[in-house]
Amino acid sequence: MNIDQPLTDREAVSKIQDVIEGMDGYSLYEDSIHEHEEVVLCIARKGLEKHLLVISKDGSIPNTEFTGKEIKSGSVSVLECELSHENASVLRSKFDFTNPVLIGKTDSYGFGDRLGNAGPAHLRAVKEAGFKPVLAQQSIRELERTKRTAEEVMDAASWSVFQEGYHDGFGADGDHLKTTQDIDRMVKAGFTMFTIDPSDYVVNEVKQMTEEELQSSYENLPWEEIEDTPKDLLDRFEFSDIELNTGYKINPSIRDIKEGMVKYGRVITHTRMMASYISATYPDHPSELELSVDETNAPTTLFEHYLVASELDRLGVELVSLAPRFCGDFEKGIDFKGDLDQFRDEYVEHLAIAEKFGSYKLSIHSGSDKFSVYEVVGSLNLGAVHVKTAGTSYLEALRTIAECEPDFFREIMAFSLRRFDEDKKTYHISADLSKIEDPSKAREEELPEYLDDNNARQVLHVAFGSVLSGDLPEAKGFKKRLMNALEKNEELHYSNLEKHFHKHLSPFSVK
Ligand SMILES: [Zn+2]
Repeated sequence: MNIDQPLTDREAVSKIQDVIEGMDGYSLYEDSIHEHEEVVLCIARKGLEKHLLVISKDGSIPNTEFTGKEIKSGSVSVLECELSHENASVLRSKFDFTNPVLIGKTDSYGFGDRLGNAGPAHLRAVKEAGFKPVLAQQSIRELERTKRTAEEVMDAASWSVFQEGYHDGFGADGDHLKTTQDIDRMVKAGFTMFTIDPSDYVVNEVKQMTEEELQSSYENLPWEEIEDTPKDLLDRFEFSDIELNTGYKINPSIRDIKEGMVKYGRVITHTRMMASYISATYPDHPSELELSVDETNAPTTLFEHYLVASELDRLGVELVSLAPRFCGDFEKGIDFKGDLDQFRDEYVEHLAIAEKFGSYKLSIHSGSDKFSVYEVVGSLNLGAVHVKTAGTSYLEALRTIAECEPDFFREIMAFSLRRFDEDKKTYHISADLSKIEDPSKAREEELPEYLDDNNARQVLHVAFGSVLSGDLPEAKGFKKRLMNALEKNEELHYSNLEKHFHKHLSPFSVK
């Protein structure tokens, strides 16, 4: 065998296919065929396992840093390698495109993949949508709940782009990072986008404060770190007519300014500390920064957004995106609830603020299934946007289970229902259990309908940690069974995801 032609060449592809066909029970992912120096590599499946196969161009034992075991296809030696962390590291050292890149201030889409097997489908969906994929997107909270490591998340993304032959670059977002240790963890795994979550520093009680309390809290802010004085800051905001390029005027009262600073002053200094930590500790590591204030208890007002953005700008912190808490409800797993006209009007002004301070993107968190919001943002066709989704991919995995392993789905549904009171605690949701049919009574062909029902979706959504972590005796083995069923029905799983994400992406197609 001799494969030295470029691999866009049909002939070369068919030669590899011949080699793989000569091996019992392997099926090839055609887009995964890549060449590196004297070897050709591809991903192939055998049963429930995927492998990286390394073949030397002359058919001899491949000389490579990948580790695996040698098998034969006729006279050709093939090295069969596990999709392990070690091999993923070698992959990243040989193929640039399997490393994350900075996405910048361009439209982008975040695909959380809690199971680690949805990446290829995400890429198929995003390919022609005009969005840059942020393929590895992982919050610390989800890492704990799914018992995965940041490295596993990164490896899954690298293998995905390799399998799909996706060479256009993907982002990697360490989501909701609260401490410098969180940053260390994500840098170590190679993440390049850092979403700072300063919610622990938000002072929510400002509205209830008396004038005296507010004044003393205002004076007690860390003014040295803010690099300003209580008086100068007031003067700057009180007497400057703030007009956005939309014509919108922000006229804060003295009380508004003090409230804004007391509420967000330490958010500003914490964010700056986190940003300086990254650049000082990892000067050679590529990084881009998002600020997320989406997990506060009230929508972010335009003045609050303006205040935080202008102060960070003054202090030299550059953002690639900012996630305000928008008006209305962004509950998990279902569409937006609230006033879409208000959302549209505020979105336009939030965007105008972003434009004034470096044209960063607005980031929409809890973005799964917010179809009516996408319609609005897509039809506005203004500025750049970043959307974060995660839970919705897990739900498509469960749809696949409902379609091909009905009894197992019934088990997961019943378990998730039992877990609901406990698991809902840290989420913003409103599911009504009385409206969900008992899964043991549902007919087989009705099971996928649970995935179209808002109440059932939320119940399944919040239970993911209990289902996947294996901590609870009743859920022992769930993850393995789930993964095996999805491997066995990969095409269906991919096509469910792809269909579902076309629904997410197509409202933006006017953009
Ligand atoms: Zn968030």
